[in-house]
Amino acid sequence: MAKQYVQKITAMDEDFAQWYTDVVTKAELIDYSSVRGSMIIRPYGYAIWENIKQELDRKIKETGHENVYMPLLIPESLLQKEKDHIEGFAPEVAWVTQGGTEQLTERLCIRPTSEVLFGEHFKSVVHSYRDLPKLYNQWANVVRWEKTTRPFLRTLEFLWQEGHTCHATEEEAQAETVKMLEVYARLCEEVLAIPVIKGRKTEKEKFAGAKYTYTIESLMHDGKALQAGTSHHLGDGFARAFDIHFTDKDGTLQYVHQTSWGFTTRIIGAMIMVHGDDRGLVLPPRIAPIQLMIIPIAQHKEGVLDFSYQLKDTLSEAVRVDIDAGSKKPGWKFNEYEMKGIPLRLEVGPKDMEQQQVILVRRDTGEKLVVSLAQLKHKIAELLTAIQNNLFLRAKNHREAKTHSAASFHEFETILENSSGFIKAMWCGDVACEEKIKEKTGATSRCIPFDSEAEIAVNECVCCGKQAKHFVYWAKAY
Ligand code: AMP
Ligand code: ZN
Repeated sequence: MAKQYVQKITAMDEDFAQWYTDVVTKAELIDYSSVRGSMIIRPYGYAIWENIKQELDRKIKETGHENVYMPLLIPESLLQKEKDHIEGFAPEVAWVTQGGTEQLTERLCIRPTSEVLFGEHFKSVVHSYRDLPKLYNQWANVVRWEKTTRPFLRTLEFLWQEGHTCHATEEEAQAETVKMLEVYARLCEEVLAIPVIKGRKTEKEKFAGAKYTYTIESLMHDGKALQAGTSHHLGDGFARAFDIHFTDKDGTLQYVHQTSWGFTTRIIGAMIMVHGDDRGLVLPPRIAPIQLMIIPIAQHKEGVLDFSYQLKDTLSEAVRVDIDAGSKKPGWKFNEYEMKGIPLRLEVGPKDMEQQQVILVRRDTGEKLVVSLAQLKHKIAELLTAIQNNLFLRAKNHREAKTHSAASFHEFETILENSSGFIKAMWCGDVACEEKIKEKTGATSRCIPFDSEAEIAVNECVCCGKQAKHFVYWAKAY
């Protein structure tokens, strides 16, 4: 019966890219705009972002940071100041060359990231060791002229937060970089139910202008990896380029040590690709804008609607709840809210009212439960926790199942020919090997993990056979 209402979306295993496109549009997360690679984030998509933002903003403030706002436009001369930074970003920058009818004497770029703006500002506000540390964050949009784009995962314009900090010592900056990566990791694992691998990027993959880049890497349902967030130890490179110095306790002049870290709307794409299924989106309860949807059955019958609205009132103290009392058939509504990934559905009809019970249906497993009104609040809380935990475990098991070790180049290639996912392999540290692996297999180095439970027996580079220096996670990636 319910079948006739099923919205057609492409099956994941048939065409994963098309499945993704179907979900972002049919779940009403986005609409396309007339500019290539830009997207309109619709109310439901934006509500998800707001919840993520709220959680992350709280964590950023709890760790002592203050929010600020920098301008959108950067003069070319400012962007030029740090050589590696401009070299890395130049191909992705959009320029403003005209204001009104006048040609500008100096081009202005639309921020692709704001290191240089913070650099200029820090120079003017940091003078003494008493001014340190400076722990700033901004919520903003940035523009990067990406060649290939995909909603949320890689857009021309995206929303993010970017943290920028200044410290008196290198050790302090190092600790901050790791601390903020940990904040991202906890947000992903505990709130978004996305398991991540924490590690360091190779020289080739690090942020332009950084000393080190730390990353959290996640694995999507199709076995491709996604960089979910990055935290950069900038050393004193920007400080030297922007002349950000301070007088220390001994009266000597020192450069500051800096960090920057960013987390973007990309993570919504990750959530879709980690938890979604052939019925659409699956949202972790902790982030779902609506955690429970009430659907009255036979709502024309006396008392059903009143009863449903009463339930909504009572439950709204405990959960984010909504009701659909619209004229569409229940079967249509079931599918609609499955598509939208709402963690729990509550069905209530005349018979249930008589028996003082309702039906709860889990989005993650499809399991149906008959629950007495007396038990309802308790049971909903219990189920939301169970769904949250199940999503995380499911994703983690999926990642484990798709993580392989390779001791030789042949093994490496064979794994990728037959399967997908992470490959753990040793590497000599030479960029030539990294490039060769990418060229021959399509896999890139994702990170040198912090917890390298290196159960790989060999100690030779998987590519050239020379003495290995690092244990690396590799994968084809988004
Ligand atoms: P970065 O400042 O380059 O370290 O970028 C910070 C984070 O932004 C990266 O770790 C990615 O997760 C994310 N990101 C990078 N490019 C894009 C993009 N075009 N659209 C959405 N997110 C992005
Ligand atoms: Zn090598």
